[in-house]
Amino acid sequence: MSEKKKITTNSGCPVNHYQDSQSVGEKGPLLLQDFFLHEKLAQFNRERIPERIVHAKGTGAYGKFTVTHDISRFTRAKIFSEIGKETKVFTRFSTVGGEKGSADTERDPRGFAVKFYTEDGIWDLTGNNTPVFFIKDPKKFPDFIHTQKRDPKTNCKSPTMVWDYWSLNPESLHQVLILMSDRGTPDGYRHMNGYGSHTFSLVNKNNERFYVKFHYKTMQGIKSFTDSQAEELKGKDPDYAQRDLVEAIERGDFPKYALKIQVMTLEQAATFRWNPFDLTKVWPHADFPLMDVGIIELNKIPDNYFQDVEQAAFAPSNVVDGIGFSPDKMLQGRLLAYPDAHRYRIGVNFESLPVNKCPYSVHNYHRDGAMRSDGNGGSSPNYFPNSFDGGYEDEKYTGLAYDLDSNRVAYYDRNANDDDHYTQPGELFEKTMNAREKENTINNIIGAMRGISGPKKDEIINRQLCHWFRASTQLGMGIAKGLGVDVSEIQKQLEK
Ligand code: NDP
Repeated sequence: MSEKKKITTNSGCPVNHYQDSQSVGEKGPLLLQDFFLHEKLAQFNRERIPERIVHAKGTGAYGKFTVTHDISRFTRAKIFSEIGKETKVFTRFSTVGGEKGSADTERDPRGFAVKFYTEDGIWDLTGNNTPVFFIKDPKKFPDFIHTQKRDPKTNCKSPTMVWDYWSLNPESLHQVLILMSDRGTPDGYRHMNGYGSHTFSLVNKNNERFYVKFHYKTMQGIKSFTDSQAEELKGKDPDYAQRDLVEAIERGDFPKYALKIQVMTLEQAATFRWNPFDLTKVWPHADFPLMDVGIIELNKIPDNYFQDVEQAAFAPSNVVDGIGFSPDKMLQGRLLAYPDAHRYRIGVNFESLPVNKCPYSVHNYHRDGAMRSDGNGGSSPNYFPNSFDGGYEDEKYTGLAYDLDSNRVAYYDRNANDDDHYTQPGELFEKTMNAREKENTINNIIGAMRGISGPKKDEIINRQLCHWFRASTQLGMGIAKGLGVDVSEIQKQLEK
């Protein structure tokens, strides 16, 4: 039997009536002086912190990252300094659109965020299980997410608003196709890939910059559910992915993911046939082959879900020396939005919570704010420069300057091929998918588009069909047939 523990109030006073409220006589009303009743109910009323607007349903695990290959010619980041070097990580997996209690097997992208506790500070790779995204400009994000949530009147999910938006934003097509493929319903979190998705930079010891995409490939093999299997599990086991991860780790079957990179030189970026900073496009492997870097292994489920998973806060702005940003507009938008979301959801001192805290030195002059519990700088000065604490700005960590190719303020600077939303999804469907995946994808799209209803139904269906046709005639034809649409009308629209 475990050691006996005396129950106390939050202030440490022993409690001898944990379950009975004080009353006037045995049957009388309750007394205001039963302060422990108030404490218990007040604490309970405040158990929930705001739910994440996106990525609300998630699960997390600790583990380690081990370097297996030398990439020091591209980056001076200390995490990659030698083969065999290990760094502690925390990973959070999630679905995106659903609420905290939603089912794990929804057709939805999956979040795959990794926090590396490096000696130069926290590095967060806030990735997904898809290499691209629905939009390429952060100003579109609130509108896009509104369509993935609930209708303002019915409070129900609405396929009509989803497809209305996608059909009016053809840049979403690549991501929508991946979402509608078998990979849109992965078998848990152990059998899917992760992608940093954005273009980042790497900077080496000679101050040379390279552009980079991060990939973390599952070493358990890809496994996905069919639409009907995923549908069935939504009712039978809505926490399927959470349970699968916890059970695998608890039995010692630690999931592993191979971290790989694609690297592009600045010269290649200048002449690449796509905009290398466009989040709706990939860099083809034939042009930019994957290079091995290391292995992420997850080996510990946190003892307390709320403390470490619910309060985990990842931000793409958390990069370390040797890793930098790029002009990717979505990345630039996320640099601002993510820390802002955490300050709202968890509070200004979220980075002093154990899961978010840098285990190495943190020293600055930020002070106070709600729930400060890390010493708040003690008696040391709260201003800089000062003559007392020896604080200094380390010149070694000066970021590398960017060469910008324009000084013109623009809302939408078109790059070559930016408006080609069709070639890459077409390649995915025609070259990458096998016959079975093609058939499943077409059926999944038909099933999803059947939900479109209301007075604009035909207009939305026809507009979206034109996009599918532009990507691949085989894909467009399969969907049109399944929806019972007369393709001669679509052909007229495509000829316009
Ligand atoms: P490759 O044949 O070299 O690579 C195809 C890639 O597609 C593989 O990484 C594969 O992942 C992945 N894949 C297979 N089926 C799906 C699916 N249903 N949804 C998402 N990814 C899938 O071709 P390219 O590099 O020339 O790219 C061709 C197309 O593949 C792209 O247009 C893009 O849609 C997709 N793709 C490309 C990626 C890239 O970074 N180049 C990354 C992921 C997808 P795995 O190896 O794990 O099976």
